[in-house]
Amino acid sequence: MTKHQGRHFLQIPGPSPVPDRVLRAMDMPVIDHRSAEFAELGKTVLAGSQKIFKTSGPVMIFPSSGTGAWEAAIVNTLSPGDHVLMVETGHFATLWRQMAARWGIEVDFMPGDWRHGVDPAAIEARLAGDASGSIKAVMVVHNETSTGVTSRVGEIRAAMDRVGHPALLMVDTISSLGSADYRHDEWKVDVSVSCSQKGFMLPPGLGFNAISEKARAAARTNKMPRSYWDWEEMLKPNANGFFPYTPATNLLYGLREAISMLLEEGLDAVFARHQRLAAATRAAVTHWGLEVLCLEPLEYSPVLTAVMMPPGHDADQFRKTVLDNYNMSLGAGLAKLAGKVFRIGHLGECNELTLMAALAGVEMGLSVAGVPHRAGGVAAAMTVLEERTRSNSLAHLKIVSG
Ligand code: PLP
Repeated sequence: MTKHQGRHFLQIPGPSPVPDRVLRAMDMPVIDHRSAEFAELGKTVLAGSQKIFKTSGPVMIFPSSGTGAWEAAIVNTLSPGDHVLMVETGHFATLWRQMAARWGIEVDFMPGDWRHGVDPAAIEARLAGDASGSIKAVMVVHNETSTGVTSRVGEIRAAMDRVGHPALLMVDTISSLGSADYRHDEWKVDVSVSCSQKGFMLPPGLGFNAISEKARAAARTNKMPRSYWDWEEMLKPNANGFFPYTPATNLLYGLREAISMLLEEGLDAVFARHQRLAAATRAAVTHWGLEVLCLEPLEYSPVLTAVMMPPGHDADQFRKTVLDNYNMSLGAGLAKLAGKVFRIGHLGECNELTLMAALAGVEMGLSVAGVPHRAGGVAAAMTVLEERTRSNSLAHLKIVSG
C-alpha cells in the first residue's frame, strides 16, 4: 500500500519519466516481427533514430541496456591486445574501461578528478606522442551521469584531426542523446553508444550503436569473437526493417512516438529547454550555498546537476528524507561519491513547472533534514526561468514582426 498521493517525482538522471503519449503508444498488442506491418515500424524507427543521432549512416537498435551497447562497440571494432585511450571522467568511464579490459584491451586510462570533462589538449598531446599509431581508439563519455559533467566532443575530434591520428572515436552518448546537442556525423564520431531510458524518454531495454563507414570497415577485419552483438548480422535484416532475432516490439512503438515528440518540439528547442532547466537548477543550488560538483562552467551538464553535501551530512540520508516525505527520487552519489553528492535529473519529460516542484522538494528536504542552507533557492531558480521566458518571448515577437 502506498502512503503517497499524486505522481512519484522521478528526478534521477535516467531512467527518466516516460511521457503519457509514449506509454499509450506502447499499450498495443505484440505483432508478428516477421510481418510487413513490423517492417514498416522497423524502417520508421531506424530512420528516425538517424535524425536524433544526426547521422546519415546506420543506427542499430539492440534489445539491451546501455551496457550491452558499450559491449557491441568494443567487440565489433577492437581486437584483444589493442591499445585504446580513455579518460577517467567518473563512474561510467571507469565501468567502460573495466569492460574493455575484460575483453583483453590495453587501456591507457588518463586520470581525472571526477569534476572535469575530457581535456582535448591532453588527448592531442597523447596522440601526438603515438607516431606509430598504436592507439586504436579514443573512447569517451559525453555526459558523465555520475558527475554532471559534459565533455566537448567536437573539440576532442578537432584535437584528433590536428595531429592526424587514425584512431577511432567512440563516444558514450547514453545520457546526452536527445537532451544535449549531439552530432554524430559533424563530429566524425565512429561509434556513438546510447540507450532508451534517458533522452528518449522510454523505459530501459533498447541499446543503440550509430556507426561510421570507418567503424564498419574496422569490424570487417577485427579479431574479437562475437555473435549476438555482430553488426553485420544486424545490418542485413535491418535493411528491410527486420531484426536478426526477436526485437523489443513494444519499446519500438514507444521509440516511434518519442522520436515524433522530439522532432515536433525541434531538437534545438529540446536542447535549449534542457540548458534553461539546468541553469535554473544551478541558480537554486548556488543560492542554497551548496556546491555544484562540476568545476568547469563550459562543461555544466544540461541533463543533471550533481550537488555536494556539506561536510558531516550524508547525501543518502537526505535523499531518503526527500523520498519519504515528498515522494521524489533523487540520484545517488556513485562509487567514490556515495553519500557525498546527490544528483538532480532534469532531462526528458521535464518542463519549468516540473523542475520548480522538484527544486521545492529539494529545498523542503534540506530544511527537514537539517542540512545548513540559505532559504530561497526555488525563488532564485524562478528568476532564471522568468528571465529566459521574457527573452524568448521578445525574440519570438521580433521574428513575428519581422
Ligand atoms: N553510460 C552512462 C553515461 C550511463 O549513464 C549509464 C547508465 O546510467 C550507462 C553507461 C550504463 O547504461 P545501462 O545502465 O543502461 O546499462
